[in-house]
Amino acid sequence: MSKKHSEWESYICSFCGKTRNEVSCMVAGINDAYICKECVFLFEQKLNQRDARKRMAEDGELPTPMEICRCLDDYVIGQEAVKKMLSVAVYNHYKRRKYKDSSSRVELAKANVLLIGPTGSGKTLLAQTLSRILKVPLAIVDATALTEAGYVGEDVENIIQRLMQQSDYDMEQVVRGIIYIDEIDKIARKADNPSITRDVSGEGVQQALLKLIEGTVASVPPAGGRKHPHQEYVQVDTTEILFICGGAFDGLDNIIKRRCNKAVIGFNQQTDKNRMVPVAAMRVLPEDLVAYGLIPELVGRLPVVGVLEDIEVSALADIFTRPKNALAKQYIEMLSMDGVELSFTEDGVQAIGEKAKKRGTGARGLRAVTEEVLMETMFAVPNMKAVNKVVVDAGAVNNSRPVLIMKDGKRRRAPGSKRATGGKRQVA
Ligand code: ADP
Repeated sequence: MSKKHSEWESYICSFCGKTRNEVSCMVAGINDAYICKECVFLFEQKLNQRDARKRMAEDGELPTPMEICRCLDDYVIGQEAVKKMLSVAVYNHYKRRKYKDSSSRVELAKANVLLIGPTGSGKTLLAQTLSRILKVPLAIVDATALTEAGYVGEDVENIIQRLMQQSDYDMEQVVRGIIYIDEIDKIARKADNPSITRDVSGEGVQQALLKLIEGTVASVPPAGGRKHPHQEYVQVDTTEILFICGGAFDGLDNIIKRRCNKAVIGFNQQTDKNRMVPVAAMRVLPEDLVAYGLIPELVGRLPVVGVLEDIEVSALADIFTRPKNALAKQYIEMLSMDGVELSFTEDGVQAIGEKAKKRGTGARGLRAVTEEVLMETMFAVPNMKAVNKVVVDAGAVNNSRPVLIMKDGKRRRAPGSKRATGGKRQVA
């Protein structure tokens, strides 16, 4: 509240504390409250900023590439080059859409994205995080489940149906959505030389996908399933839908090697380490993808190519603890619901990273490892009254010691520990 001095000039702004003499104008409110002109101006600015953020959320106002990248940083650890590339690509995609009807005479071509990287390196996570940042629906589909029309399997148009489901059939949302097509490498032709061993069904699916990806008006059965003549279709223009394709592309390094005729470039976890050169040195050219078995037209429609790095142990440890929804945070939250404080020691996190790395499934291994380490604990703890702290260290991860179970700073017997319980599981 403002203080009233003897002279009216010395009324004080309730917000910044300046006196009437220090400001050009002061407005009086009720109960001896005052506000100066500068503070009114400041609040107006703040309100405008807030409105801008609200507009961004409601009207889909476009965040800048830097803003997109910063949001990706909250969820995706490492993969810096890909995050940057993707932020620019996505920004350009939605900018192109936004200014489609403006007076610009240059038609901006659609640029879909291809993500290459080993399993569990974050390809799907990138697509998921983008859809979250941009507040657009996302459909994730597996290329291996798709077939050409007329074959057993899913029609390619069902991809769009998936996106319709994801956006509650709000067609305005559908046409600005993202479709992530996983395992695109699995529908490559089987051989380098298409004239010898043609995998016709793979190529057929590529052809069918091509139409959707480059932009077409697709006839989509609203309820999914196979098309049949007496059905009604929803017409969906796919021109503005952003397609992100992902795949591990095992063996692409050999193709690049052959092209370069020099050191092999390793993004593939199975590659001989001695022959690897840094991923940063890797440059995938369209001809490499064609040699791998993608049809040139499809490669042409995926001009933005990002290569994700294989995740090292230190990055796995970071992935385990750092992202907003990191696994460690999720397990801590889960046990806190049972009144138990879970913590991971530094060497415990490192050991989880090392164990996950050995599985060769990227960050996907983290969950499996943690699940194994904490399985007995999570089974028993809800029944154990005398526990309020659980500590996971390297010994527990490597099975040389049980998980540390404590009550008020004192160690308790661990569940599933034969030594501590004489072979009986203690649930108390
Ligand atoms: P991919 O699609 O490359 O096979 P995903 O994106 O599905 O891999 O990742 C598998 C799991 O690992 C997900 O739970 C994801 O959260 C986590 N993960 C993978 N890479 C990263 C990363 N770079 N940063 C954070 N989490 C990651």
